[in-house]
Amino acid sequence: MSGNESRFAAISQITDREILPPKTPSRLEELWATDVFTLNKMQACLPKDVFKAIKKTVQTGGKLDVSVAGVVAAAMKDWAISKGALYYAHVFYPMTNITAEKHDGFISVQSDGSVITEFTDKVLVQGEPDGSSFPNGGIRSTFEARGYTAWDVTSPAYVMKTDNGVTLCIPTVFISWTGEALDKKTPLLRSNAAMSHAATRLLKLLGHSEVAPVNSSCGAEQEYFLIDSHFANSRPDILLTGRTLFGRPAAKGQQFDDHYFGAIPERVQVFMQDVEERMYRLGIPAKTRHNEVAPGQFEIAPFFEAANVASDHQQMTMTILKNTAKKHGFICLLHEKPFAGINGSGKHVNWSVGNATQGNLLDPGATPHSNLQFLLFCGAVIRGVHKYGPLLRAVVASASNDHRLGANEAPPAIISVYLGSQLEDVFEQIKRGEVKNSAHAGVMNLGVDTLPEFPKDPGDRNRTSPFAFTGNRFEFRAVGSNQAVSGPLVAMNTILTDSLIWVADTLEAELAKGVALNDAAYTVLKSVMEQHSAVIFGGNGYCQEWHKMAVERGLLNLPTTADALPVLKEKYIEELFEKTGVLSATELESRFEVYSEQYVQVIEMEAKLMISLAKTVIYPAAYRYLSELSCTIANLKVIGVELEKESLEKVASLTKLMMDSVSKLSDALSKHDFSVTEEHLQYSAKTIRPMMDRVREYADAIEGEVADDLWPLPKYQEMLFIK
Ligand code: ADP
Ligand code: MG
Repeated sequence: MSGNESRFAAISQITDREILPPKTPSRLEELWATDVFTLNKMQACLPKDVFKAIKKTVQTGGKLDVSVAGVVAAAMKDWAISKGALYYAHVFYPMTNITAEKHDGFISVQSDGSVITEFTDKVLVQGEPDGSSFPNGGIRSTFEARGYTAWDVTSPAYVMKTDNGVTLCIPTVFISWTGEALDKKTPLLRSNAAMSHAATRLLKLLGHSEVAPVNSSCGAEQEYFLIDSHFANSRPDILLTGRTLFGRPAAKGQQFDDHYFGAIPERVQVFMQDVEERMYRLGIPAKTRHNEVAPGQFEIAPFFEAANVASDHQQMTMTILKNTAKKHGFICLLHEKPFAGINGSGKHVNWSVGNATQGNLLDPGATPHSNLQFLLFCGAVIRGVHKYGPLLRAVVASASNDHRLGANEAPPAIISVYLGSQLEDVFEQIKRGEVKNSAHAGVMNLGVDTLPEFPKDPGDRNRTSPFAFTGNRFEFRAVGSNQAVSGPLVAMNTILTDSLIWVADTLEAELAKGVALNDAAYTVLKSVMEQHSAVIFGGNGYCQEWHKMAVERGLLNLPTTADALPVLKEKYIEELFEKTGVLSATELESRFEVYSEQYVQVIEMEAKLMISLAKTVIYPAAYRYLSELSCTIANLKVIGVELEKESLEKVASLTKLMMDSVSKLSDALSKHDFSVTEEHLQYSAKTIRPMMDRVREYADAIEGEVADDLWPLPKYQEMLFIK
């Protein structure tokens, strides 16, 4: 097809498409967790003592009694086969953001040539995928291939149904033969255990005799874009990189604020219902859905769950969104910035810690100033974010998130804490050493008798803060929409662990001097505020003054991944992870290597595609337009009509400039002699990326001049508005 034929074909295919009739949704009770091997299902089919052993490990984090695995495996197999499964898969989370699975049949061939279904304790507990074929940052070389997956009994097994069959999926950790974590789940489980240990110690110091294991919780809000697949299929940039490398912003973007929370388009609602049905079957508690700020952008948020399970569920949610979108003729974009000039997508990770005996430890109650337990946990978070803010920045660093962080739509690349007015005031009182009261939340009176009065939250919200207290949890808002949530959860659990240890140590030292518990606790809190209040900021995180003020306060502004990732190599970060037992120095180093490699690879791949699209798509469109226009101008001149040459000259000069910038980019890409990884990171961020921006500027300006019927790539106004 030539010119804009493929664009026009896409539009007519979309507008003429057969509309999927909406299904009447099934009742929630009928759907809920039907595809999950839940504790209830286990209770119904396992011997009492076996069930008790499993339940103990799941609910209290105790050591798994492996002798029960054979009985569990048999029951799990029977259940999965009754659901239509012929295969099982150990599911794991390598250091990419994707989910990996290795499928094996239940089949076992007997000596007489017959077959039986088999699933033994050994294959439930342990699998053996190739350890060197996944990113490992030098932990495994290709000749040292052995890696293991091991059953994570705390995250339930489930069956995944696709048109191609049913598979029993078993969540697992993934480790190398040498015992190092090659995945994202192992550190999460370790960080949770470390945090529980430290929190328990503090709770006991505070006088609790009964303390249940402490767990972190996570509720992740997922933003995404939907565009029709006919458009995506005519845009190699979207297919290969998940974002538009070229594209002139449409005249209408999000400036009218008419999309956020607007009525959900019918076709999208049918899609959402389908997504939610799949989620419910898999026991994922989808709760909230709405239109997001940008046209074509939406959000889905589940109810929060234990962090480990929430993290597995989040991975499943991303898979379900993408697969279901295909069925509905959409492409679901999880890229952090698919379209220039309009908002990108993030993932807000809501996080809290708590247990069965003391409840949510980040719940301030009605009078936070006198709630010492809350203040100590909250103070511990404040200290952690101040000491290790750069770590929080590093764990959300990626090539795609670089497009979003720091732009005036997403939290800045400076990590600070927002507490809300009530808590900020309480912590200021603590700092002054005179704790008197908590500002009252009050009631909202709307001035109209027929409208109900309702209690007001004690603090407002702040959209510009990367790390905000939101009533009974912290919301980490800088996480990318494409990212696994486990990295951020590991960082939050680990810095909290470190702070809880410090709080407990300091408190113990005070108590040993004979100071009363209350006074000792306020002393600890005062010291937190004296040393760490610089991280608390309630103002506008987007404005330039804050960026200046933050630097004066000693907070780091790490604008790109190249600036942020090297934090992982700092001594104090290495010590943090070693001390808490979450990552060894080797494991941490491997993460730096893996994420750095991913960063430079993404930028290199995008740059190569950009060059190829420039040469094979943009230049030809410009040539055709120039040739048509110059012929017309010449022909008219013959009959004495002088036409303006402005557009001709403009496109000619833009094309020339674009060619120069493309050839500079192409030359720059040939450099490969970097002495250290950090140098390569900097080169990608500070040399290649700005060159790509230049190329794009010229291409987008050309798009604004060339005749529409010659433009081959679907335009923003089409992709964002035609559904
Ligand atoms: P908003 O958009 O106002 O931030 P949403 O309702 O979209 O709020 O999402 C809030 C998320 O926070 C949900 O996933 C919710 O379940 C989760 N959440 C609520 N309370 C807690 C908590 N104590 N710990 C962790 N997550 C929580
Ligand atoms: Mg939110």
